[in-house]
Amino acid sequence: MTDLRPSSTFGELVFNRKAMRERLPKDVFAQLMAAVDTGEKIDAGVADIVASAMKEWALSKGATHYTHWFHPRTEKTAEKHMAFLSLDMEGTPLESFTGSELIQSEPDASSLPSGGMRSTFEARGYTAWDPSSPAFVVQTEKGGTLCIPSIFISYDGTPLDLKTPLLKSLNAIESRALRLLRLFGNRGVRWVKATIGAEQEFFLVNESKARLRPDIIFCGHTLCGAQPPKGQQMEDHYFGTIHPKVLAYMEDVQRELARLGIAIKTRHNEVAPCQFEFAPEFSEANLANDQNQLMMAVMKRFARRHDLRLLLHEKPFSGLNGSGKHTNFSLMDSEGRNLLSPSGPQKRSIQFLTFLGAFLLGLSRYGSLLRASIASPGNMYRLGGNEAPPAIMSVYLGEVLNRILDRIEEGLPESIPAKGSIDLGLNRLPEIKADNTDRNRTAPIAFTGNKFEFRGTGASQSLGGPVTMLMAAWAWGLEQMTGLIENRLGDGVEVSEAALEAIRFAAIESRNVRFDGNCYSDEWAREAVRRGLPVAYSTPEALSYYLVPENRELLSGLKIMSDREITAFYEIQVERYLKSREIELGVLESMVREGILPAVTRQLELDIKTYRGLTETLSEEMPHFREKIATLARIREKLVSACDRAQSLRARLTSMSLEEGAEAVTSEGLALMGEMRSLCDSAESHVGNDFWPYPRYRELLLIF
Ligand code: ADP
Ligand code: MG
Repeated sequence: MTDLRPSSTFGELVFNRKAMRERLPKDVFAQLMAAVDTGEKIDAGVADIVASAMKEWALSKGATHYTHWFHPRTEKTAEKHMAFLSLDMEGTPLESFTGSELIQSEPDASSLPSGGMRSTFEARGYTAWDPSSPAFVVQTEKGGTLCIPSIFISYDGTPLDLKTPLLKSLNAIESRALRLLRLFGNRGVRWVKATIGAEQEFFLVNESKARLRPDIIFCGHTLCGAQPPKGQQMEDHYFGTIHPKVLAYMEDVQRELARLGIAIKTRHNEVAPCQFEFAPEFSEANLANDQNQLMMAVMKRFARRHDLRLLLHEKPFSGLNGSGKHTNFSLMDSEGRNLLSPSGPQKRSIQFLTFLGAFLLGLSRYGSLLRASIASPGNMYRLGGNEAPPAIMSVYLGEVLNRILDRIEEGLPESIPAKGSIDLGLNRLPEIKADNTDRNRTAPIAFTGNKFEFRGTGASQSLGGPVTMLMAAWAWGLEQMTGLIENRLGDGVEVSEAALEAIRFAAIESRNVRFDGNCYSDEWAREAVRRGLPVAYSTPEALSYYLVPENRELLSGLKIMSDREITAFYEIQVERYLKSREIELGVLESMVREGILPAVTRQLELDIKTYRGLTETLSEEMPHFREKIATLARIREKLVSACDRAQSLRARLTSMSLEEGAEAVTSEGLALMGEMRSLCDSAESHVGNDFWPYPRYRELLLIF
């Protein structure tokens, strides 16, 4: 009998440490692992041996092709398949794959966004193997492709992807964390890695219905649709029994992901009808980012097999909750210790508070950068929507931590004895976990026992951007804390006491971003303005935070992105935003002109014909009927006018600069789409099922 336990096939499609150890000579394996752990260069001889072993392994899994698999700035991954099959001098067919092909590839890929960092005539785009994330095989019915996680750079080495800045931010935080750990006497620690666990929310709808909606096909979300009589009011979907059809899908996805080395720990129904969540076991940040992309791709592919369509859009349905990708993060050292874990002896507790304080410090200064990192076309519909995190960056720490920070604020410096042994409530730190139960779900960032959770990330977003910015802000905070402590050590102060002073500084500095109340309330929005926090509701506004000199200096100072790269990074995102809105406008206009107006016309024809057929006395007795006809006729007129304005706006966009266009689609475009949407939704309630051209919300939100 076959072993059905997921552990029996876990990781079988990954060229992981186990597979490498089995297939590589000992010395080559050791060299490769050293390169993975320390980032050392891999020499050509080693690369040839690794390539050959990787090829044999991939062939044994049915792969016929290989590809460098990379993260261009499209939020998705990219691949260009190359066949293993080649012909030797005599024309004999064989499978070949060399070390240099493993290390570097030249997909050109000139149409991927670069924000002006490369012009097509001079530009070659290169991909280079990232050995810190293992290669894997994506199997299909007929074969498979060996995917080699890679970075994507231009001919002069300029990063063009989301992975390179992420890797640089991870280096930046690692070096700062190590320095701080050494101050606390942790001499044996060899490395520190950021850990990420991303909870992925998503919607599933019937493929047969989704296929009939151009907005879902082209924009991934609905642009019109009258509210169904039953939406999420009853909240009976949340944590409910999973529909058998969805469960079958989830089981297939989970099995495949397990084979790809991804362990899904949690699956459940979310709040909105047809909304669900998968939460994987956390892993090292770079790997977590790769795995999240892979997971989204597998989820999408498998949905089709179950006659379902996966919607990763942040707001597929108006009036219902949107989807995020809650990004849980922490730091782990080479001893396997979670640096945000509060338990342990007092010195460890102070160390924990120092790391925590460093993040608070980073957040208080660079909150705008985090806001920018979650600014996307789709997330704008979600953020601040009273079910999703608000657009203002603040943190919820919970009662226990706040009390401790307050004590530290009050009690320093006089009352701290030389050895720092005063009871600051630090002995009670493990209690923080108990706070988990009543944690504040309205805060965009929360401390949840032994990690932070950043809830702003959109469901369809790459983790790359947000994690890069989180790590940049935290790395800066660590540097500040280390500087403060080192100064005091120089004065002969003991490390715990010096750290407590630094924590006190961080506690005071971060008062602006600490908020425990209801972040959805209007009072908080007003309070945030009073506190001087950046408040950006629109995506272009939030993206412009990338250009703030202080933010640019942080990223270039930490060597995460050069000044020129930041500008390019910003421009790519503004362009993506502008294009998305432009497409939405075009799709909505075509849905109205091609589907909704003809339906309204047919309904009107029928109604008018019926009305005319009535006897005079009857028609006089039916004023509502006449009124309905007049209402529908008025809606029709207004829709035509709105379509004309949409068309003219789209025409005007072509002569506008990027920023002007983004501004126009935000102010004029969104208002116009709102107007069209409400007209469509009123029309929908006046037009019968025989004529209405698109599946309604109530049909879409029903899995059968
Ligand atoms: P909830 O929905 O209650 O927030 P879940 O159990 O759905 O929590 O998800 C929690 C996520 O946090 C999981 O992906 C988990 O792996 C991740 N996580 C746990 N510990 C850490 C850590 N130390 N670093 C990063 N992520 C973590
Ligand atoms: Mg969850």
